[in-house]
Amino acid sequence: MSQLNKYKRYTITSALPYANGPLHIGHLAGAYLPADIFVRYLRLMKKDVVYICGSDEHGAAITIKAKKEDTTPQAIIDKYHNQIKESFEEFGISFDIYHRTSSAIHHDLSQEFFLNLYEKGEFIEKFSEQYFDEDYDQFLADRYVTGTCPVCSYDRAYGDQCENCGTSLNPTDLINPLSTLSGKTPVLKPTKHWYLPLDKYQPWLEKWIDEKEGEWKVNVFGQCRSWLKSGLQPRSMTRDLDWGIDVPLAEAKGKKLYVWMDAPIGYISATKQWAIDNGKDWQQYWKKQENTEDEACLMHFIGKDNIVFHCIIFPAILKAHGDYILPQNVPANEFLNLEGEKLSTSRNHAVWLHEYLQEFPGKQDELRYVLTSILPETSDSEFTWKDYQARVNNELVAILGNYVNRVMILMHKYYNGKVESDSASITLTDAGINAELGGHYDELGKNLESYRFRAALQNVMDIARMGNRYLTEQEPWKTIKTNPEGAKTALHNNLVLIGHLATCLQPFLPQTAEKIFGMLNLGVTGLNFDEELIFSNGHQLNPAALLFEKVEDEVIDLQLQKLADKKKATPQAVAKVAPAKSNITFDDFVGLDIRTGTILTAEKIAKTKKLLKLTIDTGIDQRIVVSGIAEHYEPENIIGTQVSILVNLEPREIKGILSQGMILMAENAEGKLSFVTPADAMPNGSVIR
Ligand SMILES: [Zn+2]
Repeated sequence: MSQLNKYKRYTITSALPYANGPLHIGHLAGAYLPADIFVRYLRLMKKDVVYICGSDEHGAAITIKAKKEDTTPQAIIDKYHNQIKESFEEFGISFDIYHRTSSAIHHDLSQEFFLNLYEKGEFIEKFSEQYFDEDYDQFLADRYVTGTCPVCSYDRAYGDQCENCGTSLNPTDLINPLSTLSGKTPVLKPTKHWYLPLDKYQPWLEKWIDEKEGEWKVNVFGQCRSWLKSGLQPRSMTRDLDWGIDVPLAEAKGKKLYVWMDAPIGYISATKQWAIDNGKDWQQYWKKQENTEDEACLMHFIGKDNIVFHCIIFPAILKAHGDYILPQNVPANEFLNLEGEKLSTSRNHAVWLHEYLQEFPGKQDELRYVLTSILPETSDSEFTWKDYQARVNNELVAILGNYVNRVMILMHKYYNGKVESDSASITLTDAGINAELGGHYDELGKNLESYRFRAALQNVMDIARMGNRYLTEQEPWKTIKTNPEGAKTALHNNLVLIGHLATCLQPFLPQTAEKIFGMLNLGVTGLNFDEELIFSNGHQLNPAALLFEKVEDEVIDLQLQKLADKKKATPQAVAKVAPAKSNITFDDFVGLDIRTGTILTAEKIAKTKKLLKLTIDTGIDQRIVVSGIAEHYEPENIIGTQVSILVNLEPREIKGILSQGMILMAENAEGKLSFVTPADAMPNGSVIR
């Protein structure tokens, strides 16, 4: 546990949730539960720690949501900020402050940051062409432009990203762009913006990231390296938007700060507010100190979609400012899936926290337990209701709850809940159990400090397993007749073990730990094996209470049914079959030159999730086609597959590769893609008509 002594204090952040919707289990498993476990551990180790979070309340998605719900952006952020805050509190996510980016203290600090960089000449001023809605007399944020994706032809792609194939886009990439405000075609107009030259920071970032090899999680380090490898470009720190923080320059009227020049600074402004409320010095938690050993350890807990912002853009901003410390670690998690599919807000495929709280009152620890057991620490993982049921019934009820209950019942049955002994106090006297327990504490500490929270939870459950085994071996219910002193000693040892179990459960299942401490009539202690748990002679225990209840099949069936119903109720699912397009002429049709081709080579395109670079034998030639199918097919599995290819589609450059043609794919309502392959093998170049 020596690692922890390297730092005087800790500044821990969890990603700011966006205040335009409620939270689901994927959020909890991504950036909040791991951070909360870690922070609770630090506090139990008596470390000086501040745990920071808040709502991200700016950006175009808020105004779009307000428009959709026919209300104001302020009403949207108030509604969701409060709902999100309440969900976190209910699940015991123990922020020292849950702040908001709409607060004045945050607006001031973000503007101060911008001006600091501006005055140092850190920005490049550039004009660019941006879409403008003439009816509404305003520039359009990326999200306000929709159109057809140039990669996959999805017709509702956004100006920043196609949600169908995942390609990140610029509004000008869209085919047939439309303004979401007027529904009309926008015009391009020049607009001035302030860019942070990330390319200038590239050498410094490379060196800094390289030093993190072996220390940072492999998935995080790898993603950073791949971003750096592809070369950083200047990034605009301002936007033409109507909701956000004003750019503090006279010539920038109507412009707002870019979200990454705003949201992460929210960590700092929240710390400032917390320091004001608690009589602390916020600078000790964020700024460089005269002696580096006095500096805080800054850590960002995030989901993998935020890695580039927390590992490249925000550090570059902090570096440009100069007064601030940089993150020591960014232990990002991968994604959690639900019942075989991605969690999706738009498709309402999620377990919402506010609904869980209503349907499973008082069972927050059950969800914390299951999610911690399956945290997507190194790869995507999956939540299923059957697994929830199995883990609650077979682990929480059968192992943890059962052990605590057996010991408590026997203590009350034989001794009326009174801990009495010839010595003044009762400690763990079984040397074997004591040594084994010490081993579990060691493993627990190691795993927690390496962000292996799944393994750490198993270390705690191992204490409960050990306790069950020990109690069964000792059989006090038998020896009470033949060797009453031995029975008493065995039960006392188990009682101390339960105290240790509760101690170690604190970071993971805080409510359960509190319940056990309540039954033991003991106060909560730190998380340290050396702090011996002692019952004084004559100590009175409180009545035994069940910690967990079995989850019945009906409860699970109801949840599965609910997910199925939600799926039916969402507009996307209703429109399972897209409506027919308007008629075309026969000439239009014969203008399409579709052929049978065979995939000769296939490889993933670096830095993209969805794109494969394919070489196709079209019968006419061998050519390169970029296709958005990487999430549906492994490259090595499709070589030799016959496909249908539109060969006379105008060539298009995608990610620097000239794509000549388009592979035809069938797509279902869930977005699953499948090749259109001739039923019998046909020579390459066969005409499809
Ligand atoms: Zn697309």
